[in-house]
Amino acid sequence: DADRLAGIPPTVFSRMSALAASTGAVNLGQGFPDRDGPSTVIERAVSALRDGANQYAPGAGIPALRRAIADHQLRHYGLDLDPDTEVVVTTGATEAIAGAMLGLVNPGDEVIVLEPWYDSYAAMISFAGGVLRPVTLHAPEFRLDVDALEAAVTSCTKLLLINTPHNPTGTVLTRSELEAVARIAIEHDLIVVTDEVYEHLVFTGHTHVPIATLPGMADRTLTLSSAGKSYSFTGWKVGWATGPAPLVGAVLAAKQWLSFTSASALQPAIAWALEHEAAYPRELAVSLEERRDLLCDGLSAVGLTARRPEGTYFATTDVAHLGWKDGLEFCLALPERAGVVAIPMQGFYGSPRSGHHPGRHLVRWAFCKEPDVLQEGLRRLSAAD
Ligand code: PMP
Ligand code: GLN
Repeated sequence: DADRLAGIPPTVFSRMSALAASTGAVNLGQGFPDRDGPSTVIERAVSALRDGANQYAPGAGIPALRRAIADHQLRHYGLDLDPDTEVVVTTGATEAIAGAMLGLVNPGDEVIVLEPWYDSYAAMISFAGGVLRPVTLHAPEFRLDVDALEAAVTSCTKLLLINTPHNPTGTVLTRSELEAVARIAIEHDLIVVTDEVYEHLVFTGHTHVPIATLPGMADRTLTLSSAGKSYSFTGWKVGWATGPAPLVGAVLAAKQWLSFTSASALQPAIAWALEHEAAYPRELAVSLEERRDLLCDGLSAVGLTARRPEGTYFATTDVAHLGWKDGLEFCLALPERAGVVAIPMQGFYGSPRSGHHPGRHLVRWAFCKEPDVLQEGLRRLSAAD
């Protein structure tokens, strides 16, 4: 393997989904819904295939989808974007993350990241030659420590990479937390890349605030999202990046050498979804909230007290409560012990500092599954020794 792969372990999601498949366990690990998005949208994709959307789409995405994304940002957040220069379609938010890091980070630049992080951030910062500087959201509340964020900024800091609603903790950053991020970004003249793939998956009492809407931030913020999460089509890998033309242009400049262009038949279907199935993401959030409560109550009943996540489709538990010292060991043993798969969170943290590993005991459970699947998983957990 090339040296650049040396420090990067294989993604835990593939490992745990393979384990679920080989053991027949209930998969509460990798975050993908077991009910597909709207059938009307699937029909649009089928028609697009039949109608000849089978050759390369424009690199930045088809105009109809770029327009629908711009309309979405305007309708929901009042963000006014030029679809021709301020929107780029990507192969999932994953490619938007890759494009942002490869397009904006120079070797030696520091990128401040909320810890725990979505694992592709660390890999892509490393590919770009950047240096990841973690700012830990501490269990059990996982709030932003503004002083720690301030202290992480150095003369080498290039950008702040944030994620709200936050995978894996379920934290939704509050307006005042985001105002603190914005103040620091403006004071130090930093770019903010914000991963908002769970923008619509927010529960009662919480609100998603895009940091691009805060004063002075639209010009320095690149916002990433994905139809995978909002429309339950994770396998379609249709994502996007929006923001000022220079930042979007940097993503596009990198993207042209990554995939060049994204799947042509899926783009008109997602454009149609954004316009004609506009209520779907909200309805999904309502149904997810019930499933969140089902899972969290059930986990608590087996001794795994789960903080109720504010958004996303993940809940975090501390397996030290059950006497386990290590979340990875817990998750590797779980399929055999209980017939369930969950995700150890330690891979989403940097190396231990001062001998302390804040994520070692933490395990993430996905609740984007049908209620009977969650119930079966919980039944198995309660029957385990
Ligand atoms: N960011 C976060 C926080 C995620 O949870 C995911 C889901 N895997 C992604 C990005 C990637 O999204 P996509 O599947 O659209 O590439
Ligand atoms: N976002 C999903 C999760 O966090 C899927 C991850 C993946 O498949 N790489 O589980």
